[in-house]
Amino acid sequence: MGLAEFPVVVSFLSIFISIGMILYSLKYRKAENSYFFIFLSLQLFLYLFGYLLELTSVNVSEAFYGVRMQYMGFPFILPNSYLFLRDIFGHQKISKAQTTLLFIFPLITVISMQTYPFQKFFYENVQYVSNTIIANAQITPGPLYHIHVVYQYCVTVCILGLVFEAFFGDNPLMKKQSVPLLIGFFLPIVTSVAYVVAENEAVRFDYTPLATIVSIVMLVYSANNHNLLQVMPFVKDQVIDTMADGFIVFDTKQHYIDANAAAKRIFPELYQVNHGEVIPRLEQLLTNKQIIVTVDGMDCIYEVSQIQEITSFKQGGYYIVLHDITEKAQLLEELHTQASMDYLTDIYNRRAFFEKAEVLSQRNYHQKGNIALLLDIDNFKQINDRYGHPCGDKVLQVLSYEIRQNMQDFQHAVFGRYGGEEFSFLFTSISIEQAETIADAFRQKISEIEFTWINQKVGVTVSIGISVSTKEMDTSLEDLLLQADIALYEAKKKGRNQVCLYKNTQ
Ligand code: GH3
Ligand code: MG
Ligand code: MG
Repeated sequence: MGLAEFPVVVSFLSIFISIGMILYSLKYRKAENSYFFIFLSLQLFLYLFGYLLELTSVNVSEAFYGVRMQYMGFPFILPNSYLFLRDIFGHQKISKAQTTLLFIFPLITVISMQTYPFQKFFYENVQYVSNTIIANAQITPGPLYHIHVVYQYCVTVCILGLVFEAFFGDNPLMKKQSVPLLIGFFLPIVTSVAYVVAENEAVRFDYTPLATIVSIVMLVYSANNHNLLQVMPFVKDQVIDTMADGFIVFDTKQHYIDANAAAKRIFPELYQVNHGEVIPRLEQLLTNKQIIVTVDGMDCIYEVSQIQEITSFKQGGYYIVLHDITEKAQLLEELHTQASMDYLTDIYNRRAFFEKAEVLSQRNYHQKGNIALLLDIDNFKQINDRYGHPCGDKVLQVLSYEIRQNMQDFQHAVFGRYGGEEFSFLFTSISIEQAETIADAFRQKISEIEFTWINQKVGVTVSIGISVSTKEMDTSLEDLLLQADIALYEAKKKGRNQVCLYKNTQ
């Protein structure tokens, strides 16, 4: 290929580009406003293909045939681009009258151009010039041709107006979009002016079709960004509506604006509330950090966020978020229970016993004083040794069950597994005599349990130590239990299966 064939090759390539664009536009035919893009691609194709026919023509009628084809597409490219751009930049749709006005000139152009030589308003004359490699239909413009040119420049000015507006506006995304568009739409102006200004008689290559490709590509590039921008609000809507957290939006007067699906599930009252009305239970939400509501028959716990201001909303507004913490709260509760209960006997463990006993003695401080009991299984080691550890475990469980049953009657009391085979108790509203009676009843009951292990009768007895702290003595819980332990030791010494009261002999 010599340098001379360059224009033909270039126009060939540009036709491929325009076919690519047609395919691309058809692929996205379902996208919003894709018809603009499909039209533009088709018009571009006709323009470029017509131009190639003109360049490669061998006589005036062939050359003019190419020009006819160009004019099927070319007059509409700019007004279509203008409408497309308006859409990209979010301008209002123009009215039907304005659309008619916009397309009346290209239509006149097409009709007057296609009906040459029956009338000569558009062209006065068409001649054929060729340098054997490329050919041109050399035209002598008529009055309508001048109108056509003026119109095209007017639309170009409108387009540049839109792009400049975006460029100097304060929307950063539109600013970014406007740069490729500026390049895209300046290029054909430069090439067309260059073509017109250049010497009229010679055969020459017009770069405007090529530049038009650049414009349209830039337009598509911007439109793609624009589509992304358009899809975001929909995505946000969908995400907000499918999330588990409730959203309630209200205005500065605390009147309802909107709520997502989750919020309406939490407060079905919201289904009945209209824009601008008072929101039921809003006061409750604004004054509580947590609320418990029955949702679909289940008690749910929601954490209420602080009231948030919507900064991007001109009229001013606020929202609150209701975050479902039911599972978290249940888990915490479960963990807390696990940490405070003895796994074998299902009563409080030593740590929980001290915690609860401390609270109880503080609460009943001015009442009768505190009484502690320490209960220890007699010769438990022997039970383990004789019947095995699992039997010892079973004894502990049966005993705990018995204790639980007997302790149900006492409101101001706590008990737990103190360790090994020892159980501790704290009473705050009974007398010493009552304590002794209770302890002895325990001892008696336990000794009467008919416990069997693999068909063998296992006799279980316990010893109990009691200690007392009156209001005046103010003994600490730890000391009280130490004293009960001393009394327990006393009971063991005396022969087991008995109750002993700690006596302060010092
Ligand atoms: P005393 O009458 O003097 O209290 O004698 P005792 O054998 O009960 O006391 P000792 O302290 O000598 O033994 C307590 C035994 O309790 C030792 C230990 O193996 C057993 N024990 C502690 N915790 C458990 C348990 O969870 N399950 C079983 N099966 N045995 C336990
Ligand atoms: Mg013991
Ligand atoms: Mg023991």
